[in-house]
Amino acid sequence: AKRIDLKDVDIYYGAFHAVQSVNLTVAPRSVTAFIGPSGCGKSTVLRTLNRMHEEIPGARVDGQILLDGENIYDRSADAVAVRRTIGMVFQMPNPFPTMSIRDNVVAGLRLQGVKDKKKLDEVAEASLRGANLWNEVKDRLDKPGGGISGGQQQRLCIARAIAVQPDVLLMDEPCSALDPISTLAIEDLIADLKKEYTIVIVTHNMQQAARVSDQTGFFNLEATGKPGHLVEIDDTE
Ligand code: ADP
Ligand code: ADP
Repeated sequence: AKRIDLKDVDIYYGAFHAVQSVNLTVAPRSVTAFIGPSGCGKSTVLRTLNRMHEEIPGARVDGQILLDGENIYDRSADAVAVRRTIGMVFQMPNPFPTMSIRDNVVAGLRLQGVKDKKKLDEVAEASLRGANLWNEVKDRLDKPGGGISGGQQQRLCIARAIAVQPDVLLMDEPCSALDPISTLAIEDLIADLKKEYTIVIVTHNMQQAARVSDQTGFFNLEATGKPGHLVEIDDTE
């Protein structure tokens, strides 16, 4: 788990100033929640931590984003290397639907060149256990990832994210597409994952922020078309 620091971060999409002067520290093995109205830049800040804005033509980030003091934009300018150390989970569970559950979990490791079947099976089991999913799928590891419930698919995506042992886990409204029971399962899981990872979660649910996070970053924007900004950071307890 690594510490995250954002220092005077401004984010632009072309000429549009999306987010203004964000300053924030996320301690290792803690959960920070981002909350605020739609369009105030929560997802934009989250994506910046993963250099994902580089997929977006014209997007620009000013300021510093540090992982354990190291600027993620300095690291030999290699976005792929940075992304390997950062796991990302999205609102819509997105397992590879026709790929087996087992292969879904180790897809990232395969991309990194791991071929040994015993090693891949071990990591698949450990990651599924880590995502509180093992008992539910251990008898159908060869079945398609798209064939389980939405809540299970989301935990499968979390298993896939942790299989590569990232330093940081980013979650963008991971429960917004899920039913209440599946949501509680993910919240319980986040409490477990916190023991090992630095976690940032975007949510629109104040109760969820209170339940899962150690600190909450409140975002707002003054008016449509104006940049969003971090209004305050509160200890959640
Ligand atoms: P939130 O997650 O808080 O709902 P977003 O980060 O998605 O907010 O969006 C912040 C602002 O940036 C919005 O005005 C949105 O329309 C704009 N925005 C987000 N993504 C892009 C993009 N790829 N290109 C242009 N503008 C974008
Ligand atoms: P969320 O707020 O849940 O992140 P949005 O519905 O705001 O999702 O955005 C969904 C996708 O559309 C994102 O990939 C975002 O980058 C893109 N997007 C949002 N606003 C704009 C915009 N004004 N122009 C271009 N792309 C945008």
